Amino acid sequence: MSIHQNSVVAIHYTLKDDAGTVLDSSGDEPLSYLHGHGNLIPGLERELTGRDAGDRINVAVAPRDAYGERDGTLVREVPRSALSEIEDLQPGMRLQAESNSGVHAVTVTQVADDTVTLDANHPLAGMTLHFDVEVTSVRDASPDELWHGHAHGPGGHDH
Ligand code: ZN
Repeated sequence: MSIHQNSVVAIHYTLKDDAGTVLDSSGDEPLSYLHGHGNLIPGLERELTGRDAGDRINVAVAPRDAYGERDGTLVREVPRSALSEIEDLQPGMRLQAESNSGVHAVTVTQVADDTVTLDANHPLAGMTLHFDVEVTSVRDASPDELWHGHAHGPGGHDH
């Protein structure tokens, strides 16, 4: 069975940046996901369509098909005093920030004497993502999985 809309697909993957640094991987257990529901980035779903269990692919996904380009307006400086309750503030820390549009994750990119720079871009925005993927299994989704929009079972969701 090849991968199509509403397949439940298990994959092992390694994600690297342009320099070959490993950013993420599936680990011991393959990741299980429901195909065609936006659970993976668009560029990777497109490459996996039509593949079969046992296939290995090596794909570079441009930012527009991954986490988008970086948006400079999402970077801002705030007074350090606004974050005074956070101990040991360091570049690279991820924080939850509240704004008019709700709570979202930001990354601390700079810590100066009086100001802190926060970046609300996705950490992988603007990056070309290099995936090594092995398809380990393909099956049809159950009605529950289609209803929930995600895969159940090992490597997927508990409910
Ligand atoms: Zn579910």
